[in-house]
Amino acid sequence: MKCILCDNEEAVSQGLGENCIISRTKIAATGVLPLTLCPKCGSIKIGNRWYHNRDDLPLSSRLLDLCSVSDDHFHPELDRESIDLDIEGQSVKFIVRLSDGYDFRSSPIQLEAKLSILKNSCPACNRLTGSYYESIIQIRSFSRKYSDAIDHAVKDVNEFLETEKLRGKNPFISRQQRLKEGFDLYLGSKSDGEKIAKFIHDRYFSEMVQNKKLAGRTEGYDLYRYTYLLRLLDLPEGSVIMKRGERYILISASSSDITLMNYTSRRTVHIRQNEFNSNPFEYTGEVLPLKHYIILSRRGGETQLMDPESFREITVQGSFSGEEVTGFEIEGGILIPPKN
Ligand SMILES: [Zn+2]
Ligand SMILES: [Zn+2]
Repeated sequence: MKCILCDNEEAVSQGLGENCIISRTKIAATGVLPLTLCPKCGSIKIGNRWYHNRDDLPLSSRLLDLCSVSDDHFHPELDRESIDLDIEGQSVKFIVRLSDGYDFRSSPIQLEAKLSILKNSCPACNRLTGSYYESIIQIRSFSRKYSDAIDHAVKDVNEFLETEKLRGKNPFISRQQRLKEGFDLYLGSKSDGEKIAKFIHDRYFSEMVQNKKLAGRTEGYDLYRYTYLLRLLDLPEGSVIMKRGERYILISASSSDITLMNYTSRRTVHIRQNEFNSNPFEYTGEVLPLKHYIILSRRGGETQLMDPESFREITVQGSFSGEEVTGFEIEGGILIPPKN
């Protein structure tokens, strides 16, 4: 029987010849294969197990999971011998053949998938040398809780590390640890720690505290360990904070500055991240509720508002345009934050 498409080659499956099967069936490897590499011995961790011998890596089913085939009459079969890991190039090449589940196997098709590599020293190396690190990035939050802001920062750092390779003297991540109150990243060199700390500090409104500790002596030199503590501002607008014994309301925040309002005098202050660093504040845990109010009328520099939930009418100073305003409820009154 001839191929129903080209009427030229011999049909081998589904009435089609092999050339037509290969040309009309799209197969691709999509997504990334995550793995952890021990930078000291080159062992690789897949799932929860470390493999010292790269020929033993259980990659077949993981690679097949990345493959998608446009025609479900055919599925890929992987040639185990063909798996070629390129750690430097962060990719893996492998060969599949399309199979119809019966007798047909196509000629080999070469595919390539991307690797996502996390560097972490393996337990064997940790036992031999101790887990070596020169710097620690401690990501914490102002609310003192493990909040979304921490997860965002960790995700950003990992993305940053995928494009910007570590370039320090010991370019590896020695350990990553998720804690109740934040996330710790242990790095092989100081310069990489500095680079990542700066990356987070530039991206998030945060307080950065850096310190160094003598960790021992090696080959006649003092060995220091550097800690970069980054406390991310994760407080909602309306949060009440204490600064030099006075109460302030957090009006708005961006990655470079925040706007606060003095609780008593209602004066606004803008604080830049670098000023904030040398003059931090304490969170009281109190947040003023942010609500919408309906504008009823305006008269002589005053505006009459109504709370749509309680129908309570309140007069505020100032003239506001539109039909609604947003304000913080404060001691029975309303505080309408100034627009920046
Ligand atoms: Zn054909
Ligand atoms: Zn190792």
